[in-house]
Amino acid sequence: MSSASLLSWGQFPRYPQSPTVCHWPGALAPALAKLAAAHGSTLAYGAGLSYGDSCLAASDHVLHTRALDRFVAADWTAGKVTAEAGVSLADILRIAVPRGWFLPVTPGTKYVTLGGAIANDVHGKNHHRRGTFGCHVRRLGLLRSDLGRIECSPHSHPAHFIATIGGLGLTGIIEWAELQLVPIRSSRIDSLTQRFGDLDEFFSLSTELDEAHEFCVAWIDCLAKGKARGRGVYMAGDFAPTGPLAVETKRKVTVPLTPPFSLINGLSLRAFNEVYWHKAPATRRRSNTGYDSFFYPLDALLNWNRIYGRQGFQQYQALIPEHVARDGISALLEAIAASGTGSFLAVIKRCGSVDSPGLLSFPKPGTTLALDFPHHRDLGETLFPRLDAIVREAGGRLYPAKDAHMTGDDFRRGYPAWQQLEALRDPALLSRFWRRVTQ
Ligand SMILES: Cc1cc2nc3c(=O)[nH]c(=O)nc-3n(C[C@H](O)[C@H](O)[C@H](O)COP(=O)(O)OP(=O)(O)OC[C@H]3O[C@@H](n4cnc5c(N)ncnc54)[C@H](O)[C@@H]3O)c2cc1C
Repeated sequence: MSSASLLSWGQFPRYPQSPTVCHWPGALAPALAKLAAAHGSTLAYGAGLSYGDSCLAASDHVLHTRALDRFVAADWTAGKVTAEAGVSLADILRIAVPRGWFLPVTPGTKYVTLGGAIANDVHGKNHHRRGTFGCHVRRLGLLRSDLGRIECSPHSHPAHFIATIGGLGLTGIIEWAELQLVPIRSSRIDSLTQRFGDLDEFFSLSTELDEAHEFCVAWIDCLAKGKARGRGVYMAGDFAPTGPLAVETKRKVTVPLTPPFSLINGLSLRAFNEVYWHKAPATRRRSNTGYDSFFYPLDALLNWNRIYGRQGFQQYQALIPEHVARDGISALLEAIAASGTGSFLAVIKRCGSVDSPGLLSFPKPGTTLALDFPHHRDLGETLFPRLDAIVREAGGRLYPAKDAHMTGDDFRRGYPAWQQLEALRDPALLSRFWRRVTQ
């Protein structure tokens, strides 16, 4: 069955995808065979919350797995949940939170699917403690066009298991997965907020607070120059020891339409950043907040990607290795501030040393900087090449889940295990991203 065409979250690059929607596991194998025969290849598509072209099929015909959204089993004593790949993290929270369990790792939106979270091996505010999402996946069911159904875990088809975690959807269709949750005694978060004046202050706050708190992240003013370069607001938190175990269902507002041009520009951004930074507390302020506003503030504004207008936007997320992180991030910020473009959504986080299980997982020890840019032609011609050169020089890499521009050379240098993944790629699956960076 087909429905309207799909894009990725950044709406760039603009290659509309024709979806074949699968509602039942039994429909997957015939759909995979049919799409491969008709179009050469296909790709699973979850919620489409990846920014660039990693969730777009090279053939522009995707296998839409969001409707595979049933729970298969749950053990509430051990906190283990088995679910089909289209189940969203919000669906998991709905049944887990009242029983005293939470996601071990969560990205900044709860609308991603289980399959998408595994395929990009997503990370969150607690990377320094718990590593990536894939660290908590115990088993998964994979459907391949050449091998049929296989169950993968560290003990069964281990090569396919580590290739599928962070495998960009290329090793087969994930049908289901078993996830280990973490226990909580309250769904509220005890949080603290403090602004910092420059990058040195960020790194010293991070050294002190990452040790003491499970969740840590900072907003950074991407346009601040001179002495103020690298200023921002640090946020840390932990689940409160007591309190309610309540699913949060806040009222949502929707951006109703896509304006012809981006509502984010240098002027509005500079004014916003100025006010936001000055409003943040200069000394530590503690509060108690719901998990929804702590982890998912952006989910309150549905379809917020529309504010970037019809041209869409690109996210630039780089990781700079620990030993050169300060200088590398400083150089990136200097180049961005000089360009006068960027967005309010600029996030900096120090990743920890917990090993990712995936062959191509993005995080490693170092500091990651992520920010959105309204799309325009100059981005790919001037700013991004400048930023890429800094990342290359520092020995860092970019995050495929957010990418629409990285060169094949940079990808292959940043992810030397790519050939191992290519060897295990399902011949019926190919994304626009993979074709762009490997072929
Ligand atoms: C507001 C926002 C905040 C975000 N914050 C973070 C963050 O903090 N950390 C982070 O790591 N990421 C973050 N992301 C990125 C997002 O978490 C990832 O891109 C995620 O993979 C998207 O999941 P999805 O279900 O939308 O999958 P899609 O975007 O549809 O697909 C992503 C990949 O998963 C594959 N896939 C999907 N389903 C299956 C399946 N059943 N079988 C095999 N492969 C499959 C696709 O082929 C594709 O390669 C954020 C995104 C947004 C929009």
